[in-house]
Parts: sequence; structure tokens; C-alpha cells
Amino acid sequence: MENVSKPVRVRFAPSPTGIPHVGNIRTALFNWLFARHHGGSFILRIEDTDIVRKVEGALEAILDSLRWLGLDWDEGPEAGGDYGPYFQSQRLEIYQGVVRRLVEQGDAYLCYCSTERLEEMRKEQVRRKQPPGYDRRCRGLSEKEKAELEAKGITPVVRFKTPLSEKIKFVDIIRGDVVFDCATIDDFVLMKSDGYPTYHLANVVDDHLMKISHVLRADEWLSSTPRHILLYDALGYEPPEFAHLPMILGSDRAKLSKRHGATSVMDYRKQGYLPQAMVNFLALLGWSLDDRTELMSREELIKNFSIERIGKTGAIFSQEKLGWMNGVYLRQLSIEELVELAMPFLERRLPKEVKRPISRDYVRQIVPLIQERMRTLAEGVELASFFFVERLDYEPALLLERGLTGERALKALETAKERLESCPFEAVSLEGVLRPLAAELGLKTGEFFGLLRVATTGHTAAPPLFQTMAVLGRERCLKRIETAMERLTEKA
Ligand code: GLU
Repeated sequence: MENVSKPVRVRFAPSPTGIPHVGNIRTALFNWLFARHHGGSFILRIEDTDIVRKVEGALEAILDSLRWLGLDWDEGPEAGGDYGPYFQSQRLEIYQGVVRRLVEQGDAYLCYCSTERLEEMRKEQVRRKQPPGYDRRCRGLSEKEKAELEAKGITPVVRFKTPLSEKIKFVDIIRGDVVFDCATIDDFVLMKSDGYPTYHLANVVDDHLMKISHVLRADEWLSSTPRHILLYDALGYEPPEFAHLPMILGSDRAKLSKRHGATSVMDYRKQGYLPQAMVNFLALLGWSLDDRTELMSREELIKNFSIERIGKTGAIFSQEKLGWMNGVYLRQLSIEELVELAMPFLERRLPKEVKRPISRDYVRQIVPLIQERMRTLAEGVELASFFFVERLDYEPALLLERGLTGERALKALETAKERLESCPFEAVSLEGVLRPLAAELGLKTGEFFGLLRVATTGHTAAPPLFQTMAVLGRERCLKRIETAMERLTEKA
């Protein structure tokens, strides 16, 4: 069970080595929900000690993703705080001091092995089918040997002196008791030769100095935790509580990856998913209120979140469910809110030939017609595109889909055109004119309306016909009917 006797201080500690994906942000969200539930602090710490793997733009993408989802941090970049700096690259002296102490107290040692030697050693281990890991050659160097290596100008790394036989035990709030055998842990590096700490060292030092109470992080870090426990022990720090979050899987139960279409969180934003839907969806990736409730507001999530209800087994990421949920949230918006959100998507995504700026008044009329059917804002643009383009692209055969002959279709369109020239362009009037006209032409309403639908929208499925025509307006409708007639004539 989670122990919250200490003030709750949790952190999201991303490395800016890539654009944050769904899994990273789920970790951030769980930490944030836990902090907000307990009235604690949510800290953002940037673990940027791997200069080789640093990716340009990654930090911005991390901050943008958190901001977009409303995961505000109490301490960290931009916010400041009493435990900074919050970029590990600005804390090198702290780590160096800790490492010196570990060396002095005999818990760490300098290692002069070259990359070539380590490479050789690795190959040899593979050949002999031995477990991988440093062979501890430098663990027992004499002062004289050290001085000789030093004289050669080799800059050493610092390694932890892992106890040779011991069991490491810790409790994970989600998994219960976890036991690791020290024999499986090598003398891992604490400080690289460039003076930068490794993840293990910096993570432990900072979690301690920043008074982190609970570490909620991805499952993949579970195997690092025994190393961290060893470090906490050696440094005389009290370890935080750990909770390793279940892995996120694709619908085929393989670890979620690009292959599943799951991309960066910002890509979801670009496609027009709403942050409130995304938060709701991500919260259910491994956590549940009662195995049934799907729709929950941010406030409800905060109120109910607990580590106890995080599952042990992998959480399935279903793109379909996300689409459904986003559709639900889109339908909850007022017309005005949806117009506001749709405008930039239309501006950006409608074909180039459509004149800009897009008329907001026109959009306000369109939105109620597509709100029910869209799952994302990008999809909304696709559904609405026919309202804007000059020329509809459709196969003339589509006009005859309902089994009409070209001749009858032509006649029907021609008559419709005549009537539409004078009839008021409102849904009710249009229906009042067109419904009886079907009978007059000897057509089934389905046939006639289907024909008009393709002629005016280019699609066989579109929003309600008369409302759509009313929004399109007389001029556009007449022009489109004429074009349809031309296409039928050409086809014949
Ligand atoms: N920097 C690590 C990461 O990128 C942090 C892991 C942890 O939370 O301890 O995920």
C-alpha cells in the first residue's frame, strides 16, 4: 500500500533524447494525478546527462506536451523551486562530490579499462556464453598500478563496488516484494570519463536531494532499481517508495511502438485529439476506477487516483477507443467552442485552392452538421471539405449508384435545378419542394435524394441533405447540379 506519511513529492524525469511518446506522458500523468490527489508537489526534472543522445527540440516537445495536457509542474524548468537546478547538466558538481565520497568510503573505484578492452571482454563473454558485465579488473588495483595508469594520461570512469553476494530486496507498491541477486549486477559506472554522471547516480542523488517521496516510473526501470537501492544504502539515504507502471502494449500485445501507429503526443494534437480526451484515455492505460467507468473528467481522475488501482499486467493501447473517446469529448463541446478549435485546422488543412481566410460564419453553420460524425478535428476537415472546394472530385458513375439510368438522372437534376432557382434556401422549404418532386419524377426518395447528395456533396454519405444544401447555398448548389449534368452528358 502506498505510504503517504511524508509530504508527497513526485517527479517526472524525462531525458531529452527523443520526442515524448504516449508511454512517457502516461508516466507524467500518473505522477501528476498522484501529486494532485494528495495535494503534493509535481516536479519536472530534466535528465540531460547523456550528451551524445541528446536530441534537438526534445526538451521543447516535452514541455509542450505537458502544457498541452495541462500537467502543470510545481518545480522545474521555468517554474523554479527550492531544490534546483532542475537540469541535471547544471548539477555536475553535486554528483562529482557524491562520487568522491563513495570512492573515499570504499564503495566506488576508478576504472581505467579502455573501450577496446571492454569490447574484447564483451565478445569473450558472448563466446563463452557468460553473462555480460564488467569483469571487475580494476576493482583491486594497487596504488602503484593506479599511478602507472594515471601517468599514461588515461581518464578513468568511476564504478560502484557492487557487493559480490547479497540479495537486494525492496517493495514495489504495485508488484509487492522484489528480490534481486547481487551476482547478476556488475560494477556499474557512476561517473563517465567526461565528468558526467550516469543515469543511476544522478537519479538517486537527485531523488534524495529533491526529497522525492514516491517514484512512479515505467516498468523498464525495474531492473535498475536494485542498483539504486545499493546506492541509497551506500550513501545512507532513505530510498523513496517505488511503483513501476505496467507496460503499454499494442492491440497485438506486443510492446507499443511506432508500428502500432502510436506516435508522439504532439502528433495526436496535430490530428485534432482534445487534451481532455487524451488525459482521460491515458489515465486508463494501466489504472482504472472500477474496471467499467470510461469517461472521467480531470477532477474525477484527481479525486479517485490511487496507486492501488494500477494494474500489474500490460495495458492495451487501443487507437479505436481513443478515437471513440475523442468523439465523445468533441460532441460535448458547444458549437462556438468547436468552431474555435476547428478554425485553425481548416485554415491549415483545407486544399490550397480554397480561399483564405476561411469564413467563421460559414464554419459556424457547418459545424453542427458534422459534430456528430467526427472523431478528430482533422477528420472534421475531411468531412467538411466539400463545403469549401470549388470542384468536387467524384466518379460520374457515383451519380447512378442507386440504379438510375443516365437519362432519368439527367431529367431529375434538370427539374430539381429549375425548382431550386426560385425556392427559399432553407432546410424546411427545400424538403417541401424536393420530397414531392421525387414522386412527380416517378423516383423513390432514396434514389432522388441519393442523386442530389452526390451532385451537391460528391459523397454518397454526408450530413442531412436539406440542411447541407441550405448551408451550401443556392449558387453553389445550382452550379454543382449543372456540373453533375455535364458529367452525365459527357459520360453518355
Ligand atoms: N530519465 C529517465 C527516463 O528518461 C528517468 C527514469 C526514472 O524515472 O527513474 O525515463
